[in-house]
Order: sequence, then C-alpha cells, then structure tokens
Amino acid sequence: MYCEIFDTGIDERAHAPVIRRLYARWQALRAEGPAVPFSYFAPQTMGPAADDMIVFRPLPDGDMVFAHYGRALVERNGVDMTGLPHSHLKEPIGAFFRDCNARVAASGQPLFTLHRGKSAGPVHLWERLVLPCQDETGETLLVVIALPRLYRDDLLASLLDASLDAIVAVRLIRDEQGRVTDGEFITANRLAAEWSGISVEAMLQTTILKLRPDLKDAGLWDAYVQAAELRSPLQLITPWTILGRQCWMEVACVPFGDGFTLTVTDVTEKKKALDREREAQGELARANEALKEEIRRRQDLELELSRLATRDSLTGVLNRRAVTEGLQRSMATAERYGHPVSVLAMDLDHFKRINDEHGHAGGDAVLRHVTDLLTHGLREDVDLVGRLGGEEFVIVLPHVGLTDAAAVACRMRAVMAETGVMHDDRPIVFSGSFGVACWDGRETMDRLLSRADTALYRAKAAGRNAVAVDEGAGEIVVAVAPPQAPLQPLSEPFTPSTRQGTGPRGSRSKAGS
Ligand code: GH3
Ligand code: MG
Ligand code: MG
Repeated sequence: MYCEIFDTGIDERAHAPVIRRLYARWQALRAEGPAVPFSYFAPQTMGPAADDMIVFRPLPDGDMVFAHYGRALVERNGVDMTGLPHSHLKEPIGAFFRDCNARVAASGQPLFTLHRGKSAGPVHLWERLVLPCQDETGETLLVVIALPRLYRDDLLASLLDASLDAIVAVRLIRDEQGRVTDGEFITANRLAAEWSGISVEAMLQTTILKLRPDLKDAGLWDAYVQAAELRSPLQLITPWTILGRQCWMEVACVPFGDGFTLTVTDVTEKKKALDREREAQGELARANEALKEEIRRRQDLELELSRLATRDSLTGVLNRRAVTEGLQRSMATAERYGHPVSVLAMDLDHFKRINDEHGHAGGDAVLRHVTDLLTHGLREDVDLVGRLGGEEFVIVLPHVGLTDAAAVACRMRAVMAETGVMHDDRPIVFSGSFGVACWDGRETMDRLLSRADTALYRAKAAGRNAVAVDEGAGEIVVAVAPPQAPLQPLSEPFTPSTRQGTGPRGSRSKAGS
C-alpha cells in the first residue's frame, strides 16, 4: 500500500475544508490548555462531520477499540467497525493505523496522513487527520477524520486550479417568495480566490454580492441572474480592478443547477493589442487621406501650371501660342469633317489714348472688361478667345461660316461700343474694330490670320468701330461702318442711350483689294 504521514504543513496538505476546520479548532483549544477536551469533538456534537469520524479508545491490553465508526465509512467500506478492536484490521492497513495512533498517543501531536489501498476504485486517496483528545477521566482518545478523495473530484479540482481563467460556480440564494437575493460560491478555483484577494475557503464562506457588491451597480449581477433563469449563456467584456490593477475581463456566464458558472479571462493585453491595432489603422487611414490630399493639391497645381502656360495673365483668355494651336486643331478637324471654321481679328480703337487719359491701369481695366464681353455669348468649350498681345485679340469659331462669323463680329462690336467700364469713378468708353475671315479649306493658318488682319486694317481705315469681312478672292467688304467720325474717347459721364445702335448695317462699301 501507499502511505504518507505528516506532522507539519497540515493546513496546506489537507484538501477537505472540514479537516482544515477541525485542525484549526484543535489548535485553538490546545493553545488554551495542556490537553484538548474530547467533548469538543464528541460525534454527537459534530453534526454531519460525525459521518466521516472514527474515535479510538485505548484498551487495557494496549490495543484500541473503535468507539465510533462514522456512517459514511460504513457505507463506503461495507463494514461497521464499531466495538471491534484495532487488531481486527487486516494488514498492512492495520499496522499503518496502529503505528499512526501510537505516534499520536505518545507525542500528543496531530498527524495528517494520505494512504491508498491496493484495490482501485473511485477513491484514489484517503486523507485522515488524527487528533489526540482527553476525556473527563483523563484518558487519551484519538479522533480521526477520514475522507476519501475521489478521482473525479480531484481531477476537476486539478483542472480548475490549472486553468488560466478564474472559475467559480454560484448557487442562487432565494427568499421565501423565490426571489433571488444573492448567490453562494459552490466552488472557486485558485485564480478566482487570488483575483478576489482572499482564500478559496473564505470565498466558499461568503456570498458573491458580499464579495463583489459592485456587480450590482454595473448591472452585471442582473445579467448573470437572467442568464441563469432563462438558461441562456452570456458572454461579455468588462473592466475589472484586480488588486488595484485596471484590467479588461472577458466573462462567460453559463447556467448551472440553480445558478451559474463564471469563467473570467484576463484579456487586458489582447484588448490593448486590439486598441493599438485600431489606432495604427486609424493612423494609416489618416496618412492615406493626407496622401490623397497631397495628390489632389499637386493635381490642382499642375492644372494651374498648365493654365498659366496657356493663359494670358492679365485677362485669363488663351495666349498667342494656345489660341494658334487651337486654331490649328480646328482647321485639322474642319478638314477631316468638311466643316467651316472662321476667325475674327479684333483690335481696340485708339487704345493709346485710353492709356494716356486713364493711365495704364485704366487700359488694363478695359482689356479685362473686353475679354468678358468677348467671352460672353460664345459657345463654351467650342469657341476660342486669345490675346495676341497689346490690345489685339483673335476669336476662333469652329463650324461657323463667313456670314454667321460676320454676324458674331457685328454683335460684339455693338456690345463693346455700347458698354463702358468704370475706372477710378470715371467711365471709360471704348470700341473695337473687327476683321472677319473664313478658312478656304486649303490655305495655311498664317494666311488665314493675315486675311483677317487685313480685313481688320480695312475696318480701321473705314473709321474704326467697324467690321470688315474678307469674302475671298481679295474682296473685303466693310459690313458695319462707324456711325460718324472716328470715335473720340469721351470725357463726360457715359450714358448708353447716347451710343449707336447694333447689328450689321448692310452698307456694303467696297474696299479695294
Ligand atoms: P488704333 O486705333 O490704330 O489701334 O490705335 P491704338 O492707339 O489703339 O494703337 P497703337 O498700336 O498705337 O497703341 C496701342 C497701345 O496699347 C500702345 C501700348 O502702350 C498699349 N498697350 C499694349 N499692351 C498693353 C497692356 O497690356 N496694357 C495697357 N494698358 N496698354 C497696353
Ligand atoms: Mg489699337
Ligand atoms: Mg494694336
């Protein structure tokens, strides 16, 4: 057989709470006097613990008799030893018991033993506490508490204690109306006790709400009770302070009997890692956004640069290069599809005088205003307006034949002549002269521009504020002549009603070629 005998460390070695309790009681009584009175351990005063007790009384011949043999022992061993002498026990267990008893009787000190017989069964180990007591006659009696340790119980206890989770089983305490008032711990593993800051025994002797009144405030208690009563498991993550440390716990609450088990896992590190990952993802998203913003900014910049490369800085219309390239493309398209394309050359009249009278800034204001007028009414993204330099402009009209181009020029001339611009609180009136030409389908761009220019020169010669049309074959017709003598910049306030009318006049004054 297997056996171990200990006279120290009994508290730590004993598994059964009743053994630890009775040992503590014996020690307390022993501290009060030279011997522990048997009356404190008499079976009839011990309640259920008496079922696991043996009392040995010495016999005159040096043997001992079983004065009490607990009910649970009778049931488990199938024999009642009450009244039988110690020597009745079979070897080798008899020798083991006799030896223990003799040592306790001689030393007056308790012993804790573990032993296992040969026969295997659900009991894998017996643990026993042997306590020396004295009855009122001064005779030494030995009180033995013998408890079987079952494989299943020990296995469960070992698994629970090995767990990295805190595990408790709680039975609900109900009032007379059946309402749940609290819960008692049926079991608690080592970690549950550690995290609660008390021993497993202390946990088993308290209630869950006494140990953790905060569960009620957090609403967790109601959730656990509901899980138990509805028999529906629950899982949640909750903050938890363990021995002054802020933690995050994952709690699984599973219904069990009239109560529940709680399995509590410390997920603080996991949560921190998750938070860090989320933070990193947030940073990545922010970096992505910043990158997109930078790309947008660069695209805007490129757009602005290309705009600057193709635009006239004063007026914002196309510069010479861009408008001539545009004209070239229009001519290529016109050739491919057999469309017409026309150009208008425009030069402001007596612009030098405007500069002289109103200053360069006044001249600039007129240039900007003129581009507004020219652009207005043209087809967006189809017609092109370019400034060739100074106060000379060119307008490209794709898909437009000579007659319509002349009409456009007449309309523009009229609008310009009717409109003034305010500068430094003074009105500036101005006009422009137009030369119109339509591409003949063969000539070069320079030739086309030169024909429009020549027509413009003819309009100037006709008195300015006029439109002259190159009708081809060297024939230039002044479509709109100025109403009177060459326009003089006005000094008096500008009033539109005093200006001339609009539209082609049809006075086809022929100009020589
Ligand atoms: P005409 O009717 O014959 O065209 O007479 P004009 O005075 O308009 O023509 P001229 O070529 O003699 O004068 C053009 C003036 O335009 C001379 C120049 O100082 C002025 N000019 C050229 N570029 C600019 C500019 O960007 N801003 C301003 N304010 N004036 C300019
Ligand atoms: Mg001019
Ligand atoms: Mg000029």
